[in-house]
Amino acid sequence: MLDRTLLYEILAKHGLSLDDSAFKRLDSFSDILVKTNESFNLTAITEPKDVTVKHFADSLILYKYVDFPKGAKIIDVGTGAGFPGLVLLLSRPDLKMTFLDSTRKKLGFIQSVTDSMGVSAEILHARAEDAGQNREYRERFDFAAARAVSNLTDLSEYCLPFVRKGGVFISMKSAEAEDEIKAAQKAIKLLGGETEKDILFDLVEEMPRRIILIKKKSQTPTQYPRPSAKIAKNPLK
Ligand code: SAM
Repeated sequence: MLDRTLLYEILAKHGLSLDDSAFKRLDSFSDILVKTNESFNLTAITEPKDVTVKHFADSLILYKYVDFPKGAKIIDVGTGAGFPGLVLLLSRPDLKMTFLDSTRKKLGFIQSVTDSMGVSAEILHARAEDAGQNREYRERFDFAAARAVSNLTDLSEYCLPFVRKGGVFISMKSAEAEDEIKAAQKAIKLLGGETEKDILFDLVEEMPRRIILIKKKSQTPTQYPRPSAKIAKNPLK
């Protein structure tokens, strides 16, 4: 169960709000998450206050920094149990969300949540490196978002191919990501992106977080993303 008072307090502090029906959907999602987690490991975070802050507020905070137009097409790369994508979708069912993960069981969980709430979404079981070479998904999204998936260099190779020219790749990181952000700049440029904003903020007191917004300036060269073994062996420099 979410801590409603705490969630509304955090959102208000950041100038955000949430209507009642959106809260109810998010609260049901958190109940299903904690219940399912008893038999299938989806998250290490299960205390109501922690779930509220570290999963739900941390996903909703994207609305402060990113303006998602009505019906925006978003891919959540390495969504796991649905963060941030399922929180965004349940609070804004107008969004066209694609959930991508290489673990089928996690996607089964997401499907069961979207089915039970009557919201529609695309579920994509694939490795990002493979889906990024598929014409159906390449350069097709207004936004690609990823939280806690990989270092920014590899993540850029996973995510930027999905984003259309003019779209944005949203990387959600811990505050200490300075070095990896610097190290990723050449790769980002090579893949057709440009770091537009590197936002450091306190989600709550003593919980600094970082959101990096990378704009897609030109098409990603066709050889990227490379197969996973190549990315692992030869990260872009
Ligand atoms: N984004 C979620 C969150 O913040 O709670 C999940 C993070 S979890 C640590 C990383 C997820 O990314 C896992 O579900 C894993 O299966 C997925 N993943 C890692 N590498 C991937 C890849 N190359 N393609 C697709 N999914 C990947």
